[in-house]
Amino acid sequence: MSAPGPAWYSHELCFWHDPGPGSGYVPVGPGIEPLRQFAVDPDLRRAEGLVKASGVMDRFTAVTPAPASDEDLLLVHVPEHVERVEAASAAGAGDAGVYAHVNYHSAQAARLAAGACAQAAVAVLDGRFDRAYCLVRPPGHHAEPDRAMALCLYNNVAIAARAAQRHGARRVLILDWDVHHGNGIQRVFYEDPDVLYISLHQDGLFPAASGGVLETGAGAGAGATLNVPLPPGSGHAAYLAVIDRVVEPAARAFGPELILVAAGVDAGGHDPMGRMMCTSRTLHAMTSTMCRLAGELTDGRIVFCHEGGYSAWYQPMLVLGTASAIAGLPAPHDPFLHSLEHLPGQRLQPHQNRVIEHLRTRHPLLAGQLSAAGPGPGGDH
Ligand SMILES: [Zn+2]
Repeated sequence: MSAPGPAWYSHELCFWHDPGPGSGYVPVGPGIEPLRQFAVDPDLRRAEGLVKASGVMDRFTAVTPAPASDEDLLLVHVPEHVERVEAASAAGAGDAGVYAHVNYHSAQAARLAAGACAQAAVAVLDGRFDRAYCLVRPPGHHAEPDRAMALCLYNNVAIAARAAQRHGARRVLILDWDVHHGNGIQRVFYEDPDVLYISLHQDGLFPAASGGVLETGAGAGAGATLNVPLPPGSGHAAYLAVIDRVVEPAARAFGPELILVAAGVDAGGHDPMGRMMCTSRTLHAMTSTMCRLAGELTDGRIVFCHEGGYSAWYQPMLVLGTASAIAGLPAPHDPFLHSLEHLPGQRLQPHQNRVIEHLRTRHPLLAGQLSAAGPGPGGDH
C-alpha cells in the first residue's frame, strides 16, 4: 500500500469571513476613511490559487472540513464566548470581542477553521494522512477561553490540541511562528504539563508585554511554555537558529506524540503588521525541519494551521513555501526574493543570539532542570 501523503484542509466559506470596512486593522470611526481591513480573505484565496497554479496542490489530498461542534469549541472556550460570536455574526456586523469584527459568515467560518484543525489532527493521529496543512480563517491564536481578540474568534490550534488529547494523544507540542505572541494558546495551556507551547515572535509586538522569556509555565505546567521573543529585524538565519538550537532540543526533551504548528506567515519581510524579514525560503526551511523532526519524534505526525499573514502580494508566496515543504518539494521560485535576501540583517545578529543563549542556559526544559519525561505530576520525579 502506498503512503497516504499529505492532506489540505480548506473551505470556501472561510474566505467569506470579513471584519468589515475599516483601514488596516481599525474599523471605520474617527479619522478612519473606509478602505479595507487586513484579514479580508480574498488574499488568502489567492494563496490557495498559487498553490494550485504551481501544481503543488496535486501532491495533497483536498479535504472539506466539517464545522466544529459545540462540544469541540467547549474543549477550550466557555459557552458565553461561543454565544457572543454567534450573536455578533447573526447581527451581520460588530465586534465579538476586542478588535474581532465579524460579518454574517464569520461564525460559520470560525467553526470551519476550528473544525479543520481538529479534524486534521485526528486524521493524522489515525494515520489517514502523513501530515496536513489547514488554510483557514479567521485565525485563532489570540482567542482566549472567554474572549475573541485581534481578528481571532476561536482558538483553532488549542482546540486541535484538545481534540487530539480527546482522541488518545497525551503529549502535544505546539510551535507558533506567527509574528505575534499567541497569548490565547499560552493561556489555555499555561498550567498543563502535557502541552508544550513554543512561540517565536517579535519581542513586545502584540499583545504588549506578552510572551517574555520569563513566562515559562506555572504549577504543573512549569517549564512547558517557551517564549522566544526575537528583536525586530530578525530574518532567515535568526529563525533557523531558533529552530535548530531551541525548538529541536526542547521538542526532544519533551517527547510529543503530535506536533501542531501555528503557521502564520506575518513574519514575512513584506508584512505590514510585523517588522521581521522572513522569506519563502525561511518558511520552507522551517517547515522541512519540523517535518523531519516529526519523523524522528512523532512517527511523522504534524499539522500546520494557518494564522496571520497580511501582505496581499507576499502571503501567497509564503504559503507556497510552506506547502512545498510539507509536500517534500524544493523551495519554489520566488520573484520577490531579491528584495529581501540580500539585506544584511538576514544573518544572525549578536542581539538576536543573546535571546537564544538565554533560553539555552536558563529555560527549565533546555537547561536540564526538569526530567526528559516531562514536567509536572505526569512525570516520574
Ligand atoms: Zn499574527
